[in-house]
Amino acid sequence: MDQDLTDMLRISKAVGGDERLVQGGGGNTSVKTQAGDLMYVKASGTSLADMSEGRGYRQVDVEKCLRVVEDKDLLELRPADREAEVLRRLCESCVDRLDGRPSVETGLHAMLGRYVVHTHPSVVNGLLCAAKGREKLAELFADFAPPYLYVEYVNPGYSLATRLYTELANHRRRYGGPPEVMFLENHGLFVTADKADRALSLTKEVFGAIEGAVRKAREKAALPPFSPLSAGQQEAMAAQVAAAMRPFYSAVLGRPALIRFDNEKAVTEFLRIPRARDLSKAPPMIPDQVVYCGGRPIWVEPHERETSVEREVISALKEVEAGADTPFCILLKGLGLFSAAPSAKLLDAASSVMQAVLETLSVAFHFGGPRGLSSEAIESLRDCEADRFRRGLAAG
Ligand SMILES: [Zn+2]
Repeated sequence: MDQDLTDMLRISKAVGGDERLVQGGGGNTSVKTQAGDLMYVKASGTSLADMSEGRGYRQVDVEKCLRVVEDKDLLELRPADREAEVLRRLCESCVDRLDGRPSVETGLHAMLGRYVVHTHPSVVNGLLCAAKGREKLAELFADFAPPYLYVEYVNPGYSLATRLYTELANHRRRYGGPPEVMFLENHGLFVTADKADRALSLTKEVFGAIEGAVRKAREKAALPPFSPLSAGQQEAMAAQVAAAMRPFYSAVLGRPALIRFDNEKAVTEFLRIPRARDLSKAPPMIPDQVVYCGGRPIWVEPHERETSVEREVISALKEVEAGADTPFCILLKGLGLFSAAPSAKLLDAASSVMQAVLETLSVAFHFGGPRGLSSEAIESLRDCEADRFRRGLAAG
């Protein structure tokens, strides 16, 4: 195994094993050869933690990937067709014989430095999805040298790559060199460096500084503690909720639905916020929330006199449309989070992405309140996703 691949596996394992940094199959990494002509990049659909020799990555021709980003003719295509065409060309740029398709962010990786670490840290996203988050970043990282780059929201894939292409050129003109840290609004963090360790330590540095600021804001706010039900009550209620969800989601998915209950810290920290109900109704925060959780969670508040929480959940489910935007997560006040999916892998993604979103929302709450994705962005994400699904079915 060459040194570049050893580094690639090492940085991928380092961030992939930390759910605070990436969830499900999210995030990606890349390593270029010393000459910069070839690049290892994460394959889409696999998780960073599962990468191993011969698995979970592709090696691509950097120049060919850059040519895809530079091709303005692609702008003429409908977004879903464009993403499919970009993916086809990225597959053509592979120089190995491995399985899997290169990440949709390969074009973006191609323009950056030798080592690239892209993560979706929920705490960092708390600022990237908050009304006053940009100000806070400016305060925390004012003395970064070279200065960081802040990129306003644009959908992942080709749109993001072309936007970055322009922004990086502007940044170079303005500061005489490329940035090492890039904050992508409502999305995540990109770090690039000429040493693998530097890419990892910068990721940790940004995460740590924001985590510190969040801790201070939380101490100042002194929210009431989460008051959970007794273990026995919890178990009985969770069983009722799952019983109500199973037939609904099995019908929506067209096959038996798997249901999962979580009451980890990210969930209870969110539920203890007095305005949790309002926050849960904010538009989706990040693209993965639209893709894996079907958008915002359904909020259910059990009434004191109501004996059956099952009936409450059934009536809440009746209100949501069974279609492209069916939410796959339910938040139950005082209890926790329920997720539904057709497979164990998707269930894990729905639950871990929603937990990250709840953390993002509870951070954003302290910095001017959450600022979700626009309806155009959500629609286009759903369009591309539906398209990918259809193509996946067609391909068997
Ligand atoms: Zn991303």
